[in-house]
Formats: sequence, C-alpha cells, structure tokens
Amino acid sequence: MTALAFVVICAVALFATRGFAWGAQGDVLGIRFGADGDRTRVVIDLDKSTQGRVIDAGADGRVTLALNGVAPGRGLNGGGSGLVRSYQVSAAGGASRVQLELARGSEIERRFLLPPGDGVAHYRYVVDLKAVGGAVPAPRAAPRSTPTPRRAERPLIVIDAGHGGRDPGASGAKISESQVTLAAALALKAELERTGRYRVRLTRETNTYVDLYRRVSIARQADADLFISLHADAGSDPAVRGASVYTLSEQGAGRAVREFTRTDNWHRELHLPGRDPSVDRILLDMTQRATQNRSAQFARVLLTHLEGSDHPLLRRSHRDAGLAVLLAPDVPAVLLEMGFITNPEDERLLTDERARRRLMKSVADGIDRYFREPAAPLMTASNDGAGQP
Ligand SMILES: [Zn+2]
Repeated sequence: MTALAFVVICAVALFATRGFAWGAQGDVLGIRFGADGDRTRVVIDLDKSTQGRVIDAGADGRVTLALNGVAPGRGLNGGGSGLVRSYQVSAAGGASRVQLELARGSEIERRFLLPPGDGVAHYRYVVDLKAVGGAVPAPRAAPRSTPTPRRAERPLIVIDAGHGGRDPGASGAKISESQVTLAAALALKAELERTGRYRVRLTRETNTYVDLYRRVSIARQADADLFISLHADAGSDPAVRGASVYTLSEQGAGRAVREFTRTDNWHRELHLPGRDPSVDRILLDMTQRATQNRSAQFARVLLTHLEGSDHPLLRRSHRDAGLAVLLAPDVPAVLLEMGFITNPEDERLLTDERARRRLMKSVADGIDRYFREPAAPLMTASNDGAGQP
C-alpha cells in the first residue's frame, strides 16, 4: 500500500470517531457514529464475521440492516449522530437487526465488513450514509407494521444461465449449451424455492441474448447474496469429461478492478463517494478481496457437494479464471461448468431431466451449507492496513 493510500486511510479513520455506544452482551459489541456534513459513518463493532442485508434503504426515514449469524444479546439502543437520530439493535431470527432512525433524508452510500486487523481485534461492519434531498422525512405513523424479517432476510440467489439467443454457446451432438444452462437454471431455481429459504432471480428465463455485463449488473443491482453462473464445457477430446467450478483469480480480480474503473460511472455504480478516486479505489479493492474470499468459500462447499453426486469432477476442479461474468466486485460469484457437452456421457447426463435435477439438488445443498456456515475470516492473507474506520 502506498504512502498516499495510507494518508487517505488515516483521514477516513479520523472522520469516524464522534458518537459512541459500547456494551451489550452478545456478538454486537457496540455502535459508533462519525458525522461529517452530509455524510455519516456508522461502525458496528462485532465479535464475529457476518453478512449484512439491507431491509430498509432509507426511503422511509429509516435504514434497517440484518446482520446474519450475529446474536444481539440484550440488544442496544441510543441516540445517534449526524444523519442518524437514534438506533436500535434487536434480535430477528438468527440475525441482529440494526435499525437507524434518520434525522434527514439519507441513503446508504456503501457498506462493507472489515476483519480484525490494524490493532483492532474484532470485526467491524461499516455503513456510510449520505444525505439526499435535504428534506426531513415525515414522522413515522405509530403502529406501522414492521417488515416480516424472515421474508426480508432470505438470501437472494441470482442464477445465470450461460449464453442464450444469438449466442448458443458450445454444441454437443444433440443439444446446445444455452439450452442445457437454461434448463439447469430453472431446475436450480425450483430446487431453491422449494426450501422456502431463498429468493431467486434468473438473468434470463427464456432463450434470449443477455450481455455479460448486464448479467453482472443484474446481480449487483439486486444486491444479490450469491451469483452462480451455469455453463457446460467443451473440448476437442471427446473423452474429457467432468464438472468444475471457477472463481475469480487474484489476477482476474485485478483485471476486474481495472476494467471496472475504466468506465466513467463506476464509483456511482458501486455507491462510492467519487470525491477522491484513491479512496474509491481502496474501498473497491477491499470489497473485491472480501468478495473473492466468500466466492472461494462457496466454491469449496459446492465442490464437496458435487463430489457426492453422480456427476464426475475434473481432477483439478476448482480453477480460477478472469471471467467477465464473475466481475461483480461486491457479489460472491462462482461459475459452474456442469460437465463437457462434447463428452457423450456428460451430454447424456446434462440432457436427462432427472440427472440434471439431481445435479442441481447437489448445488442447492451446497448453497444451503454455504449459508449455514459462518462467513470465513476475510482478507486473512494480506490485510495491509486498508481502511480502519
Ligand atoms: Zn459457456
């Protein structure tokens, strides 16, 4: 990390020290606020890693987040600072619900998890709020029904059926890749919805062409918890068969950041402030590394489950790649090559509805296991001091 970056980080750290609440039993250690004009940073100190989910984004005078797998203990509440009038932390299912009553119209500018590091022994979930419109929201009607937490907290899985329309993908003897991926995506959707534990969205539901970047932005804009892209491999040797799982490699991630930041609107798209490009780059990089870690974790779980299925795996199945469809810097993403469409046996399995359903059941089981497992520590390898709020 460069000296410039360090200075920027210190500036970020300074801005987040006013307003402080500490105490409560459980995993939520406390909440801190740092206010600066039309921006307020909320730092939630946690005993463990979590996945955050937005329930209310601020439109209603309130920001509500669910922090999965985090116990609130007796809960917390108190006054806020800056854009936050007051806060409350309470239990909601297996999660902690963090409710921020806003003093002014605001929106979430960004949010991210920081692992222990830089002399801080615990996790921090950071939410940056930014004032919008300047209007004070109307007082809330008293007996307003709160959102049903179970429904709101169900993870959103975006399933991407590879190829489609004018892009048929690879061809087997009887079927094209785009047909196989759509059938598999629909089977996985049904499998996940049957559990009642997930919300599911597909990047395409018919034989249509969808641009790669559009697929990524569907997942990002929907604030997906997991993105899984389904494909079928092809090779010149018909004997080669087996499924494999890809995640974005370190190099691929670097390229993703470069590609992504080449566009003009990337900081806006990622809800970064855009005032200082180096701050944005650091935050993007941190998000990217955290996401990469989660992606790798899911890939491992998925492989374990595929191993138990009747689909063979390629010997070195967890491969890294810089694939455009995995570029979302803030959504854990994997690409599953379900098998070789150029291998007769794999093609038969992919074409057979029951075999396909069994494979997708294994994938759904893998997803289940991934969401039951606590998040692995993030950025363990090289937390080089980026961002200490
Ligand atoms: Zn493909």
